Amino acid sequence: VLCRHQVTRTVLAALATLGLLAAAIAVAVLPAQPAAAQSANYQQVVDLTFPVHDPNRLTSYSDDYYGSRARGDHGATDIGGPNAYGVRVHAAVAGTVTSIQGLDGPPPGWGYAIRIRGVDGRDYNYLHLGRQNGPPSEAYASGIQRGSTVQRGQHIGYIGHSGNASASWPHLHLEIIDSSVTDRQGTNRINPFYSLRAAESRGDLPGTVRALPGGSDDVAPERPGGFSDVAPGHPHAAGIVAISKGKITEGCRPANYCPERTVDRGQMATFLSRALGLAAANVSSVPDVANDHPHAPGIGAVTLAGIASGKGDGRFDPAAPVRRDQMATFLAKALDLDPKPAPFADVTADNVHAGAIGAVAAEGIALGTGGNAYDPAAPVSRAQMATFLARAFDLA
Ligand SMILES: [Zn+2]
Repeated sequence: VLCRHQVTRTVLAALATLGLLAAAIAVAVLPAQPAAAQSANYQQVVDLTFPVHDPNRLTSYSDDYYGSRARGDHGATDIGGPNAYGVRVHAAVAGTVTSIQGLDGPPPGWGYAIRIRGVDGRDYNYLHLGRQNGPPSEAYASGIQRGSTVQRGQHIGYIGHSGNASASWPHLHLEIIDSSVTDRQGTNRINPFYSLRAAESRGDLPGTVRALPGGSDDVAPERPGGFSDVAPGHPHAAGIVAISKGKITEGCRPANYCPERTVDRGQMATFLSRALGLAAANVSSVPDVANDHPHAPGIGAVTLAGIASGKGDGRFDPAAPVRRDQMATFLAKALDLDPKPAPFADVTADNVHAGAIGAVAAEGIALGTGGNAYDPAAPVSRAQMATFLARAFDLA
């Protein structure tokens, strides 16, 4: 069983000397033990199933119950990660959905959220599902509505960043309300951390240790990379799985890769920046990309690294499709390959991408399309892109 939740608290210490030296040191420390004097039982271990499990995408959590928020303690545990958008959320305990928000109007300030009255008498709140103003289908599993009875471990929704959550760290905010408990703030909550840690350590993860009731889509056969729109026999399945495992893609929407969709220049920038492990950079020098563009960090990174130079006038044109000849140049620059003559009848020496096409062909990254042709002007699909990236960066 792959289990990548990390129970660490990370402390970042930044040192700066004369503005020239900055060092960040990450120190993992053990979570603090519950303080005995606070409340009799608000840090008790509740019998629950860990609500998130995706072997392909890293999620983490820590004892952040006391994290400072506008109205006092955080009062919850956040489970998430930079690539966690769309990871499935499962019911921690069986119960009945008593509230599901944002179906009849805009979601409230904390976003798309489900409350379940557990069979144990406690209320479980699952917050920040989907994305603000996004469709409810990205927040809630199909069929989940007020009054629904859910089994323990049943798929109920998707990790997101709706409401007052950070888009750069999509997460599930899990609260446990128990009227018989009083925490140090005087609210009737249980700190979920100890129950989550106990569930994880005994392997009580959804879909792994517990046979789910019939009708749940969690028992569907494995799909490559967990993407429901990639058939096991898809010609680019291996590449798609490889770049998913390499955290280069998180799909186009929850549980989907959209293999036939064309890659645009913005997506390409994100793919390459992740494959190369480039740090996000700002886009202040790129006039047609706003800071909040979804691909701004990747575009800034590849522009700074000189991999994508834009359009001469500085524009990046993020929505333009990537052609096969342009892709060769992106990859040749990313890998720092020397130009080589292109061995294809349809790539003439006056094509500015000819040297790059020759280079990626010589490396076995982009093969021709058959019949001594490269088809330089054809757009690159997301499926093809996966294979190119997997070959270029030796991912498997
Ligand atoms: Zn939270």
